[in-house]
Amino acid sequence: MEENIKFLRSGILAPIKKWGTHWSLWPVHLVTACCGAELAHAFASGYDGERIGALNYGIARQTNLIIVEGAITRKMARVLRITWEQMPDPKFVIIMGTCGLNGGVFWNSYHLVKPFEVVPVNYFIPGCPSTPEALLRGIRQLQNEIRTGEPRSSIEFEKVDLGKGKMMPVTPKSPKKISLAPSIVVNVPRKADEETKKLADEISKLGLATTVTGKNRIALRVEKDELVDAAKKLQNFGFDHVKNVNVIDVPNEDKFIVEYHLGSYSKRELMPVVLNLFTELPRSEPKLKSLAKIFPSADYMEREMHDFFGVVFEGNEWMGRKFLLAPDTPEYPLKKDFKLEEEKYLR
Ligand code: SF4
Repeated sequence: MEENIKFLRSGILAPIKKWGTHWSLWPVHLVTACCGAELAHAFASGYDGERIGALNYGIARQTNLIIVEGAITRKMARVLRITWEQMPDPKFVIIMGTCGLNGGVFWNSYHLVKPFEVVPVNYFIPGCPSTPEALLRGIRQLQNEIRTGEPRSSIEFEKVDLGKGKMMPVTPKSPKKISLAPSIVVNVPRKADEETKKLADEISKLGLATTVTGKNRIALRVEKDELVDAAKKLQNFGFDHVKNVNVIDVPNEDKFIVEYHLGSYSKRELMPVVLNLFTELPRSEPKLKSLAKIFPSADYMEREMHDFFGVVFEGNEWMGRKFLLAPDTPEYPLKKDFKLEEEKYLR
């Protein structure tokens, strides 16, 4: 058997085999993210990837090339590995996009896996997203490698001599010109209008110390034991729903900040207003009373925050269970001190 394989690889049939592989790449594409749109573009009528001998395929058993399009999550990492293991030899992997290179925009995300730790990668194609031209160029490089047996990058960087025979590649400067468009202005001063101030004063008369943070934006800080009382008062005032529940982890001050953004559908003058009712909890005992009975729309988001941060909303029936995350997800992935356990797929 070994003899036969050796003969096929290096005997008189080897050039035919190489020629066949070169023109018969059947990429199975793992569309995990937005780079997938660029792949579709590369194989659609404009670029017509098929004319260079590669045709997308949906079934792993017949494929010999995986194109990973962007980010690979923990869940997809298993799929990637299983797909790769099912493929017959010779098999190749191309990674598209900066997400697959080093995490890209999700570089510190709790659920991201680097594909090169899961399967051996032949070519990386940079870009966010990689262009269809770049993808086709990557496929051409792979074909060259199949033909010549030599992997080669499609870009040769100029090298500088560091002395003692050491050479270092110099990365090229961006050819792009800097836009003359004005930069984005942040920290725009927010002007509170008279109406918002008047409304905040009215709410303050309920015994709640409000702060106006902008036009139609009011903040209200309470102690955690006062949260339910404050919510009831605000409900009687006209706020009838929670738009959002948010948790901010502040580990250096050993606290969580829990925010409920309240709004109103029923009282006309409150409709444009967002009231941020917030409190602080010690990280060591992150418990507070749920507002789900007062504002049912808070229920779903309290469950989410419980999943992500471990904050216990007492009275919400879902506590202690996983709601959105897969059962084997490690606890509380959005806490700042969360560390992903290492997963090793390659021996
Ligand atoms: S590299 Fe950019 S375009 Fe590609 S998957 Fe990541 S975020 Fe999306």
